[in-house]
Amino acid sequence: MKKPKILMIHTGGTLSMEQDTGGALASREIAEKIDSVLPELKNIAELVHIQIFSIDSSSIEIRHIKTLADVLDKNRNMFDGFVITHGTDTMAYTASALSFMFRNFNKPIVLTGAQRPLSEVRSDARINLIDAITVACNPNINEIVIVFDSTVFRGTRATKYKISEYDAFISQNIAPLAKLGVNIEFNKDVNTKKGIYRYYSELNSNIAVFKLFPGIQFENLHFLKEPDAIILDAFGSGNLAPNKNLITYIKKHQQVPIIIHSQVPVGRVNLNLYEAGVILKKLGAVGSGNITFEALIFKTMHLLSYTKNKRQFIKLIPKNLVGEIDY
Ligand code: ASP
Repeated sequence: MKKPKILMIHTGGTLSMEQDTGGALASREIAEKIDSVLPELKNIAELVHIQIFSIDSSSIEIRHIKTLADVLDKNRNMFDGFVITHGTDTMAYTASALSFMFRNFNKPIVLTGAQRPLSEVRSDARINLIDAITVACNPNINEIVIVFDSTVFRGTRATKYKISEYDAFISQNIAPLAKLGVNIEFNKDVNTKKGIYRYYSELNSNIAVFKLFPGIQFENLHFLKEPDAIILDAFGSGNLAPNKNLITYIKKHQQVPIIIHSQVPVGRVNLNLYEAGVILKKLGAVGSGNITFEALIFKTMHLLSYTKNKRQFIKLIPKNLVGEIDY
């Protein structure tokens, strides 16, 4: 039987790192190493490798994400599935970005990485690569997922949660899409519906984020260089004090949408629950539902690029676009 053709796109991260002379981990080209350490991968798929950059994922910028998305777009018809090797630090951000940039890619896009480099004996890279390629060979999956520690996560629901454990990611506000045990069974949430492909390549990153803490000085908002949207990472159900400086800023910058997210990962923002939320809502602020912070960042960049005005933007923030939010 013909094996699925998988494009492996390498971007760097711990998976591909090696110690430099000073002992620090630095990114290296990885394709040859994968072929020599894991020759058995050829039994499950025909692999083609492309190394688009080789960086620590903390250095990922919008231009890197756009390059990655362009490579996926250009190769979409030539391959059955795609595996992206990526650092874990910003993997959930890149997975979220791609989720909003593509509608109905109609083929699996799988991001994976490792907590220890492939070159090390106790590396988790081997099993993560085998699992990622296995999932990328499944023709039914039509979404961007992260495969890590024998688990499949929806890209827009994953968050890096642990710094040095092998189970680095958690799924926020939904169960993981699958556990990779002896058998691989996806749950009902996985998107298998196909549709018309669209590529939205623009991302407007002129946004500012304020993480709230007791004592925050909202007068600092006035020093911002005109952002196109502001995210307030608030307390509990999206709660925050109706601070005078904040209200003055909002009134003065009516064109800038204010989005309220919660610092608490489980549950959803509800601006109707407390007086402060009601005041901000009346001033035009919008709650972001139960979305991850990573997904909200890229949903905001995406919607800023593709909505006509603030009204349309505010209307779409709490709406489900790609499985990132539910009610
Ligand atoms: N600093 C690394 C990165 O994100 C961490 C990792 O890959 O686990 O590139």
